[in-house]
Amino acid sequence: MEVTKNQIISLEITGYTAEGSGVGHYQGMAVFVPLAAAGDRLQVKILKVAKSYAYGKIEKIISASGDRIPVDCPQFSRCGGCVFRHIAYEAELRAKQQRVEDALERIAGLCSVVLRPIVGAAEPNRYRNKAQLPIGLGTGGRITLGFYAAHSHRIIDCEECLLQPQEFTAAMKAFREWEAETHDSIYDEATGRGRLRHLFLRKAQTTGEVMACTVVNGNGVHDEEALADLLFEKVPGMKSCVINSNREKTNVILGSKFRTVRGEDSITDELCGLRFRISPQSFYQVNPRQAERLYALAGEYAGLTGNETVLDLYCGTGTIGLSMAKHAKQMIGVELVERAVEDAKKNAAENGIENAEFLCADAAKAADMLKNRGVRPDVVVLDPPRKGCDPALIGTVAEMAPVRVVYVSCDPATLARDIKTFSQLGYTPAEATPVDMFPRTAHVETVVLMSKKEN
Ligand code: SAH
Repeated sequence: MEVTKNQIISLEITGYTAEGSGVGHYQGMAVFVPLAAAGDRLQVKILKVAKSYAYGKIEKIISASGDRIPVDCPQFSRCGGCVFRHIAYEAELRAKQQRVEDALERIAGLCSVVLRPIVGAAEPNRYRNKAQLPIGLGTGGRITLGFYAAHSHRIIDCEECLLQPQEFTAAMKAFREWEAETHDSIYDEATGRGRLRHLFLRKAQTTGEVMACTVVNGNGVHDEEALADLLFEKVPGMKSCVINSNREKTNVILGSKFRTVRGEDSITDELCGLRFRISPQSFYQVNPRQAERLYALAGEYAGLTGNETVLDLYCGTGTIGLSMAKHAKQMIGVELVERAVEDAKKNAAENGIENAEFLCADAAKAADMLKNRGVRPDVVVLDPPRKGCDPALIGTVAEMAPVRVVYVSCDPATLARDIKTFSQLGYTPAEATPVDMFPRTAHVETVVLMSKKEN
């Protein structure tokens, strides 16, 4: 019997997709159900049918999974942020561990790699240090300020987000108060008219410093002093009130012009014992506490003694490489985005690190160039975006013959694919550890140590 649209089926949820939807099987077909929990018995309405899978939505929970917990956020399921607020954090960690295990086994065929237990976050809420809140016009001419709905530009109005620190709740409230008094105009994506576009917030968690950057279609806002007064009065740790001008009709949030209205141009945070200066446009880890644990693991896997040359490919602002530099002889970072490379160089200089250099280039091209120059790194660190590494790059890394390769991945599927390629080129995956950098979302990071096979 075929599954058809609008059909109501009874379904047992047995696991999760990479996007965090529940999965069950009905007559050999995988059925994906958002907001379902593994262990649920459900009545599901089929919404869409493809060749080997279907999408459905929960009609009724017949018997609820023991993992379910009461949902604590009014925006959950509407906002595009969290996917796991309906299950206990331990259940989420189990699901993420399973996802990494499945990817390694299914794609890479690696039953032998030692998979360590996932490093969960001590605090699954309020871990983010950055929010980019779109501003829109709501019903009755009122401001909406919050987050986009999943895969959309519809703004879900939020007073509070449980992933953000309390200071951001206070900043959003102060901003609304200022807007209600000044009635500054609100940007309309469709017409390109109106002023207020985004409220961009950052917090340095170690020092407690907060920055608020208002992105406007223009040069300023009505009564800037009143905005700064409210932010500095109401937000604990407020250090920097900035205006950014973005007059382009674009989805890119920040324009190129910044003006500090009050306070400092940047805030300062500490990560792995290093100090990082953060301006609105700096690249910086979103969950620094978990990033420290991820980098500590990467450092452990790198096994540095002080004599090594380390190559940090896809290095961003250099945080992984810089955290390793003091344990190595030499560190070379490679990153495609020029601004990130500038930040990396600045970060090295400000922390007095003199054995690190950074190249702005494509990782595959730079690796090839370094190889041809005779550079032979002892350790290569890879932290590519979700699509994983360029196959040419993997070949070049293997030819450089480092003793160890430390792969930091944000996508278990491309990680598994790349490990397989590495293992065909003489690198054995020794150990892998998943790290939960983004609790309550579907993302999971994994750090893998690969060692060169003895000939
Ligand atoms: N290691 C860094 C950032 C990792 S994110 C950290 O821990 O913070 C991946 C980085 O790879 C991004 O900064 C992205 O700009 C960069 N990138 C993407 N494609 C690249 C390529 N082809 N060559 C070099 N860097 C690239």
